[in-house]
Amino acid sequence: MSGGRRLFTVLAVVLPLCVAAGLVWLVAQRAGGGREEEAGRPTGAPSAAGSADATPGEPSEPADPAEPSGSSPDVAPGPSTSGPADGDARPGGSKALAGRVVVIDPGHNPGNRNHPAELNRLVDIGTGRKECDTTGTASNAGYPEARFTLEVSRRVRTLLEERGAEVRFTQDDDRPFGPCIDERARIGNRAKADAVVSVHADGSAPGNRGFHVILPAAVKSGAADTTGIVEESRRLGGHLADHYRSATGMRPAGYLGPRTAATGLTTRDDLGGLNLSRVPKVFLECGNMRDAEDVALLTDPAWQGKAARGIADGVTSFLVGKR
Ligand SMILES: [Zn+2]
Repeated sequence: MSGGRRLFTVLAVVLPLCVAAGLVWLVAQRAGGGREEEAGRPTGAPSAAGSADATPGEPSEPADPAEPSGSSPDVAPGPSTSGPADGDARPGGSKALAGRVVVIDPGHNPGNRNHPAELNRLVDIGTGRKECDTTGTASNAGYPEARFTLEVSRRVRTLLEERGAEVRFTQDDDRPFGPCIDERARIGNRAKADAVVSVHADGSAPGNRGFHVILPAAVKSGAADTTGIVEESRRLGGHLADHYRSATGMRPAGYLGPRTAATGLTTRDDLGGLNLSRVPKVFLECGNMRDAEDVALLTDPAWQGKAARGIADGVTSFLVGKR
């Protein structure tokens, strides 16, 4: 049999199997439905079964008297323009992050949809009690946020490790569900992380476009005490927003008001993952999975690479400037 005939025979067997497997996966994803996430705002995202929002009684966003500029003049431009693929992270040389610990928190977990009882268990977030974790949102075509967060987070890990950082994940699709939001915070605390980024994508209404970074509000209640991390988290968020924007070309989310439209930043006091953190931490909502234009980017592997570089550059810039 010639090489061409053999290849044809193999393809004739394998291709139909791949198509069938893909169809099964798609059906399974659609059946699971979407659900707002911890960080999601109930901005009208349509949802299939179980659309209970994780943030009932959406609080008004607290006023922020000290508007961060988003870029710190004390820090040299980040590595997004230096660009070599060998992990060089100027300023500071090829291992600029040596000795630094970065925790990446891929939002949700692909297995969450199979563990509703465990997810509904309430955990203490200091200011109240909240569900252990949520399934996250999904694109209209069924691409789950929980898959997106892992894809991007793994790319971020590769980049940060090239720059010398020790990177830990809260989950790597290596556990049946979760962890719960309080445990996600504790993982960063126990690691004594220099920075923590929780990676998400929003489930807002179609037409709402853009990214935003969520900063911890100053909260001191029960187990929650963010007073020691508000300023550093704000600085981390500013670097992250600037570098994410320049790496991806994506605009900040205009649907969260003029402050966020201008800076890419917003502040919340109802997220357990932030309230319980004792180390600098922010959430990044990478875009809106319910908007057709945003989701075309979010599901594009090449664009995911840009997003990861923006995140890694933002973290690098924050940490290098901290030395
Ligand atoms: Zn999320």
